[in-house]
Amino acid sequence: MSEGKPEIPAAPAAPDTTRPAAQEAAAVGASRAGTAADEYNGWQGMGIRTKRGVPAGLWIRCPGCNSTVFRKDVDRLMGVCPECDYHWYVSARNRLAQLLDEGTFEEWFGDLKPCDPIEFVDKIPYKDRIKREQQRTGLKDAVLVGMGMIRGRRVAIGVTDSAYMMGSMGSVVGEKLARLVEQAQKRDLPLIIVSGSGGGARMQEGMLSLMQMAKTSAALARFSASGGLYISVLTNPTMGGVAASFASLGDVVIAEPKALIGFAGPRTIMATIRIELPKGFQTSEFLLEHGFIDRIVRRPALKTELARLIDYCGK
Ligand SMILES: [Zn+2]
Repeated sequence: MSEGKPEIPAAPAAPDTTRPAAQEAAAVGASRAGTAADEYNGWQGMGIRTKRGVPAGLWIRCPGCNSTVFRKDVDRLMGVCPECDYHWYVSARNRLAQLLDEGTFEEWFGDLKPCDPIEFVDKIPYKDRIKREQQRTGLKDAVLVGMGMIRGRRVAIGVTDSAYMMGSMGSVVGEKLARLVEQAQKRDLPLIIVSGSGGGARMQEGMLSLMQMAKTSAALARFSASGGLYISVLTNPTMGGVAASFASLGDVVIAEPKALIGFAGPRTIMATIRIELPKGFQTSEFLLEHGFIDRIVRRPALKTELARLIDYCGK
């Protein structure tokens, strides 16, 4: 650490996640590419602690390279480390602000709220967990959908937020995304979905969560048959039922650098098949090399890249 830079403790541990797959994705992601717990601009300033004489949050420590970096530089790069290109978590609202022209977002179906169809209880009852997540994140559920402009191009857009129950897909996430796809088809708009989910399908809603995989996939199949353009943007982490349904179905699939993307987590796979996994397994870079994704785009370039793709596809 260079002189004059205050020492800032690493981010506090993540709040308890809700399922083993989520925990695994969080653990792996934290060591490799970051999770919601590394958030630098969080609801309660997670990851930032005051040090005597230093205003809170002036410097932050990068979980990617351990350097202490100037927060303003990170902000300017939209939450990317200027030293090592580490991509911090960004909330769904911030993501929309980064991607859309100012003041153009019109939220759709914002009144849909989760219920507790199977009265699920894990560490705490699901309905209490919902309340807690809603308070903590200011979101009703883990996705925002609507319409906005990207450099003057009108788009239908959805963003999942990995801070809300690891961005897992329950009935509300599935329903909002399916409706978004249908609206995109009806209005003949290019569709963009930015995914961030360490949770996959949300076990607290049982089979109803699993159904959302089929529902969103079917809506996308109809959209595709009608000639719609769907660009899927994968962020860290995109796992489980989310990766296995709408997130992988883009006409173009983009990923942020070093994102963890896969179905089961590497530790589960290793424990099951008992072989050493290849280096960089389940990272964006590995998946690009193996043809699962089309392109890796750094966050500061993402808006321009999306606009270019929409033009290129003639939408
Ligand atoms: Zn860094």
